Amino acid sequence: MSNTRDHLPILYIVVPCYNEEAVLPETVARLSAVINRLVEEQSIGASSAILLVDDGSQDQTWALIERYFQSNALVKGLKLARNAGHQNALFAGLMHAKAYADAVISIDADLQDDVLAIPEMIYQYLAGYDVVYGVRDNRANDTWFKRVTAQTFYRLMRKLGANVVYNHADCRLLSRRVLEELARYEERNLFLRGIIPMIGFPATKVYYNRSPRFAGVSKYPFKKMLSFAFDGITSLSVTPIRLITVVGLLVFLVSIVVGCYALVRDLLGHAVTGWTSLMLSIWVIGGIQLMCLGLIGEYIAKIYKETKKRPKYHVETTLQDKSAATKATG
Ligand code: UDP
Ligand code: MG
Repeated sequence: MSNTRDHLPILYIVVPCYNEEAVLPETVARLSAVINRLVEEQSIGASSAILLVDDGSQDQTWALIERYFQSNALVKGLKLARNAGHQNALFAGLMHAKAYADAVISIDADLQDDVLAIPEMIYQYLAGYDVVYGVRDNRANDTWFKRVTAQTFYRLMRKLGANVVYNHADCRLLSRRVLEELARYEERNLFLRGIIPMIGFPATKVYYNRSPRFAGVSKYPFKKMLSFAFDGITSLSVTPIRLITVVGLLVFLVSIVVGCYALVRDLLGHAVTGWTSLMLSIWVIGGIQLMCLGLIGEYIAKIYKETKKRPKYHVETTLQDKSAATKATG
């Protein structure tokens, strides 16, 4: 592999962790092995690291991270003051790593994404790419329900004009200059897999098999998944709100036809006695109106959140240099 970079890159692997005490030991062991291998073969610099971001866990996750920070030279830690959500925790990690790393790889704590994709991502980075998307080659290990809902989601996103990479979640490599650009996106409703393709730097994909969760339970129950999908769509696309206009227009056209029909019947002396049709149309139109109002409300809520410009997360503790563990908010 030809190396187009002029020095050995420092790699940070960012891992958002929410109540992950069950998998963390294995995750840290596997990631450390991958980093050590890459350092040994001189693909990355020796000060590369694993950055574990504790997203306000209630279990022993942070205690474990502190322990690893003392015992494993590769481990760095970031503790968020409260649960900020997967996307925000990941963003916090990326923004922290930006100061130290030339390239950052994000990966979930649960080992569903194959850690062996990491060397491949680095080789692509060395070959000159700024973004390397990890793409799941098979989803055989996901439940049928998760597969179908995920597929519908990707289809819908693409139809609505959001340029998301099919079967790519949040396992990806980003170069420092992509991180610099990412930092300029100030939106509160963060949907990273929609934003990264917008930045537009040279990108490629690596494929891997997705495994079942190594241990612990999914932190994305159905309700959270649905709200994530809805957030993704309304953060990236105004098509749904435009559809309201189209639906409104169609309903208006239908009502003209129905109106003419009623008028003609009335003029001919057949009084309209159709209670059923009346009730039906009231309910149908009422339903459509409520749905549209809800959708508009969703966008207004987004505007409301954005205008407040609240910080996306608060860092409570940073474990970066052993000599000076700092406490700060940001
Ligand atoms: N996660 C997080 N904050 C949350 C929810 C999840 O940091 O509020 C992390 C979690 O620890 C994991 C990753 O996000 O590393 C993906 O979550 P999970 O594996 O539970 O999602 P799934 O794979 O089931 O979609
Ligand atoms: Mg998972």
